[in-house]
Amino acid sequence: MIEIKDLHKSYKTGSTSLHVLKGINFSVAEGELVSIMGSSGSGKSTLLNILGMLDEADEGSYYLDGVPIKNLNEKIAARYRNKFLGFVFQSFNLISYKTALDNVALPLYYQGIKRKERIERAMSYLEKVGLAPWASHLPNELSGGQKQRVAIARALASDPKVLLADEPTGALDSKTSYEVMDLIQSINEEGRTILIVTHEHDIAQMTKRIVNLKDGVIIDDTKVNQVKALHNV
Ligand code: ATP
Ligand code: MG
Repeated sequence: MIEIKDLHKSYKTGSTSLHVLKGINFSVAEGELVSIMGSSGSGKSTLLNILGMLDEADEGSYYLDGVPIKNLNEKIAARYRNKFLGFVFQSFNLISYKTALDNVALPLYYQGIKRKERIERAMSYLEKVGLAPWASHLPNELSGGQKQRVAIARALASDPKVLLADEPTGALDSKTSYEVMDLIQSINEEGRTILIVTHEHDIAQMTKRIVNLKDGVIIDDTKVNQVKALHNV
């Protein structure tokens, strides 16, 4: 599903350049549930943003479902992003003046889907994350865990093959974190490929594979015996 080879990324600020990713190689098969770990500043978000086509690498290749993601024109890139990738941001990034339902329905608007179907589909995803009763609430009327669920529903609304989530439990207490991880595990069990970034060991243990980043390279890539999140709730 995902294959990256010798990926490099530097950030240039003024006259200085920071080499963040220094040759990343890995692949993720369909149906995997992977966590990316590493200390603060190790490049986890940089990598996830590149995988999410929100940013581009300087060097190296990225194949998404066998298609090279490089120099695609903006229209085709947008089509790939919609079809393959759902992205959950650490800070939720919900639109504050839109209801939970309208937030989830928004990506469907950009796909040109008619309003009636948008609302039906958005509602079915809100139901899936257990938030149907909160459909008409604004983000500031929701708890952190509920906002995170809306963000996950929004990322799933366009039915992407891959879900990418940057610290999906970073802003949550441990009980709410386990509930969100239970949701992520059940979405994965339906066959969806999921990559999350986390700095918490017990959260990573709830995935099936842990990739460790350090000094711009992968220093460890291990399969784990997945712990069911519900055991902790
Ligand atoms: P955290 O766990 O704190 O979220 P991270 O592993 O996600 O960290 P990144 O956000 O990928 O780290 O950042 C990696 C390095 O790149 C950091 O040193 C950061 O300061 C730098 N960096 C990130 N984004 C930019 C940018 N847009 N411009 C310049 N430097 C950046
Ligand atoms: Mg980060």
